[in-house]
Amino acid sequence: MKYSLTLNDLVDKRYNLHTHTYRCKHATGEDREYVEKAIKAGYEVLGFSDHMPHVFDNKYISRIRMTMDELEGYVHSIESLKKEYQKDITIYLGLEAEYFPTTYERSMAIIDQYPLDYMILGQHFLDDEIGYKHVGKSGQDESVLSAYVDRVLEALDLERFIYVAHPDIVNYIGDDETYAKHMLRLLNEFKKRNLPIELNMGGFRDGYHYPSKRLIQLGLENKNDFIIAADAHMPEEIADYETYNILKKSLDI
Ligand SMILES: [Zn+2]
Ligand SMILES: [Zn+2]
Repeated sequence: MKYSLTLNDLVDKRYNLHTHTYRCKHATGEDREYVEKAIKAGYEVLGFSDHMPHVFDNKYISRIRMTMDELEGYVHSIESLKKEYQKDITIYLGLEAEYFPTTYERSMAIIDQYPLDYMILGQHFLDDEIGYKHVGKSGQDESVLSAYVDRVLEALDLERFIYVAHPDIVNYIGDDETYAKHMLRLLNEFKKRNLPIELNMGGFRDGYHYPSKRLIQLGLENKNDFIIAADAHMPEEIADYETYNILKKSLDI
């Protein structure tokens, strides 16, 4: 693995590694407020994983992530909070990344200059974001479901990701058999690599199609591990016990 932090280091700790900042243009609050909420909520570990900047073609500027120019300020802010709050909470510096084969090398050439502790994979798009073909709009198209699973599997081979955020973000609405055929390729790979299925509190809160009951069912039958993550886009979402408890209950068989 590229980074030293693993989920094994966090066993028995109260942690959340899925936290955003205002830089992604769809989150609010100051970085410090997330830290203070996490401390109050009793977390021992807080990881920041804002949406990773990519160097897109034709100078395309994403409306859902920081620009590469903002990366330095992000790193600096999280690194200073790490020191300032070290007595109260362990803070890690991460990013939620997409694997876009066409831009990967050039984006990582810049990202790798910074001292990240971990990366989460959050594959919202298949190729790049231009045109906004979100995998959440896959409908009944099996080829999108299949391509999504292929892309995530390719990304895991990069040995960079501590886990996969909302693996059920792909929104295939066709029959259960086809869904299971492809998603089990993913879930079996998760087991091989000791990766959990993330149940995403943000998706639940916002009424999205994930966490998917179908995926939870498959994961339970397949004996996968699960984690529940805040995907906080507002400081108070770190301490959203109500959603946490509902998701936890969905794992009771
Ligand atoms: Zn986001
Ligand atoms: Zn996220």
